[in-house]
Amino acid sequence: MGNEWKLNLKDKSVAVVGLGSGGSAVVDMLWRMGADQMQGLRMTLIDPDTFYASNVTRHILRGDSVGFSKAKEMAKRYPGTTGIPGKFSTLPGKPDVIASCVDSLACESQINAYSLENKVPVVYGGVHGDAHTAEIITVVPGETPCYECYERTGELPPPSQEHYTDPNYDKTKMPSQAGLWVDVLMAASLQVQGILGVLGVRERLSPLVLMSLRPPFKYEAFNQKERCAVCSEDFSRLTV
Ligand SMILES: [Zn+2]
Repeated sequence: MGNEWKLNLKDKSVAVVGLGSGGSAVVDMLWRMGADQMQGLRMTLIDPDTFYASNVTRHILRGDSVGFSKAKEMAKRYPGTTGIPGKFSTLPGKPDVIASCVDSLACESQINAYSLENKVPVVYGGVHGDAHTAEIITVVPGETPCYECYERTGELPPPSQEHYTDPNYDKTKMPSQAGLWVDVLMAASLQVQGILGVLGVRERLSPLVLMSLRPPFKYEAFNQKERCAVCSEDFSRLTV
C-alpha cells in the first residue's frame, strides 16, 4: 500500500494542450506527482503562444519568461517534460491521455476528432465567463459521450451555459478580477482529478462536471448518454 498508485502512473504519458492559466497549473500538479522518482509521468507540453506580462497574474510562469515561448519556458521549469511551441497538430506521438486546456472551440473539436480516431481519452478543463464555474468534461472513446455531444442546442444542462448559447462568448477574455488565480487553481485541480481517474489511480469523474467556484461551491455532475453524429453512426440528430 502507499505507493502503488505511483507505479500505475509510471511510464504513462500525458499531453497537455494549451499552456494558459489552467494548462500551466495542470502541468505543475501532474509533474509534482512524479518528481520524487527516477521516471514518472511522461509529459508533452504544447502551445504555439508567447508568454506576455499580462499573463503573470494567473500563470505558473513569472516575469523572467515574458517574451518567450510558453511551451519552452514550461519545459525548462519542469525537467523531464517536452515543450513543443506548436499547434495541437504537431503532437508527436499517441499519449495515454490528453489534458485539453485550450481556449478555442475549433481546437477542442480538433482534439475531439483525434481522440475518437485514435481512441485516446481526453479531459477537457475550463472555466465559464469570469471563472465562476469550472467545467470538466471527460471523454473516453467508446465509453462516454464525446466532446461534441455537449455542443447541441437544446437539452443543455443548467445552470447558465453561455459557452453554448452565446455565439460571441469568448472565454479567453477573462477580466483581471481579484483572486482569479485561486479560481483557476480550483478548476485545474478538478481537471487533474479527472486525469487521475482516466489513468486509473482515482475514481473517475462523471463525463460532465460543473462546479461553482463561489460559495457554496455547488457541484453538479451530468451523464449525457445520447451520442452525437461525430461519435456514433447515428446522424438522425443532425439538423441540416
Ligand atoms: Zn459525440
